Amino acid sequence: ETMILKNIKETIKEKSVELLHLQFVDIEGILKHVTVTSEQFEDVVEGKIMFDGSSIKGFSPINQSDLYLKPDLNTFAVLPWSVEDGYSEARFLCSVTNPDGTLFDGDTRNVLKKTMERAAEKGYTISVGPELEFFLFKTDENGFATQEISDKGGYFEPSPQDLGERVRLEIYRALKAMGFTIEASHHEVAEGQHEINFKYADALTAADLATTYKWVVKTVAQKFGLHATFMPKPVFGINGSGMHVNMSFFKGSENAFFDPSDELQLSEKAYQFIAGVLENVKSFAAVTNPLVNSYKRLVPGYEAPCYLAWSASNRSALIRIPAKKGLATRVELRCPDPSSNPYLTFAVIASAGLDGIEKELNAPTPINEDIFHMTEGRRAELGIDNLPGSLKEAINELEGSEFAHNALGDHVYNEYVSMKKAEWDSYRTAVHAWEIENYHSKF
Ligand code: GLU
Ligand code: MG
Ligand code: MG
Repeated sequence: ETMILKNIKETIKEKSVELLHLQFVDIEGILKHVTVTSEQFEDVVEGKIMFDGSSIKGFSPINQSDLYLKPDLNTFAVLPWSVEDGYSEARFLCSVTNPDGTLFDGDTRNVLKKTMERAAEKGYTISVGPELEFFLFKTDENGFATQEISDKGGYFEPSPQDLGERVRLEIYRALKAMGFTIEASHHEVAEGQHEINFKYADALTAADLATTYKWVVKTVAQKFGLHATFMPKPVFGINGSGMHVNMSFFKGSENAFFDPSDELQLSEKAYQFIAGVLENVKSFAAVTNPLVNSYKRLVPGYEAPCYLAWSASNRSALIRIPAKKGLATRVELRCPDPSSNPYLTFAVIASAGLDGIEKELNAPTPINEDIFHMTEGRRAELGIDNLPGSLKEAINELEGSEFAHNALGDHVYNEYVSMKKAEWDSYRTAVHAWEIENYHSKF
């Protein structure tokens, strides 16, 4: 019996864990779980808990619907809010397996694992630090989300403007109890907007943490009568919420992106990584920015990128190189938003970077001017292209992209494309509030 298994058993006894939630994500990254009693622990560990894959969007057809959950022991955590009268509940994040025990291709956790294997073949481990922003909204008497923002605070503002301090404290405590290393927490630029940062980790762990973070933030907010949303642009006219992804490749304990002799202290591999991301970002935007609403965030003037350029410090650029160097050297990609599936988002970014390294691509010249205030002519002169302007444009780029197909694998790629096309079609044919406002009385 492994050490980790022994520790889990002890905790279950010590904390009188009654229930175990077996969690996994669907193709969109939405968390699901089935709850079993802790008496079933042996079956759980052996991956014997089954579920109906045909009831999960994009998983399996009705005639081959049995799938199994294989818990990742590293993700065991007692739920801090469940502890009551000495009893408690715990969860595992799981990989999804086929009845024969092989990994299920529709499980996006498995997609990321494959990307990590591809990196490992080249001697790299992938290190990721995501930064997830969110809004807090008030709820109504039934506990449902309203469109009323929870406070009027701004960037780094303390109480009494920041009414979210208490919620963020409780979120921090819950995350810490579940094993997170929290680094910072603050009120963000927009009213009602917040951010809590946790320490970087290997890609799979970071995606597990991002998934858990979203769940914990929403759960704790609800206890305060608030609704937390990771929707990218919940309010027109103010900043939206991003999920900046800081990524670096390590070789053993060395950061492969760091080279002290370079002007920007970046290695050749780092430049190739940047080039690979810039080369493929249009074709993976539908993954990192998956919603109709994602593209309402990617407009000039709100610290979110819309042009394909990189820079050492420019917050209007798509890629920024944070000032910290040495082991902390990393590339920050600013387009992803927190509604994306973190497993897929990290997989496509790392794949693009690996492509850049394999093909030894050259990074374009960094752009240090404010791109938001450049004329179209100046951008054309500098050869600065745009991110897709809508989900439709992003789907067009995704469809037929060999890069995206390889990075996501057949199952996820095909399901994802058809899911997104249906989503766009539903949006395209709906009549929106904007149309009523602008056309209804005029025509
Ligand atoms: N909220 C901004 C975004 O949409 C990012 C602000 C920041 O730099 O933290 O990406
Ligand atoms: Mg931020
Ligand atoms: Mg950032």
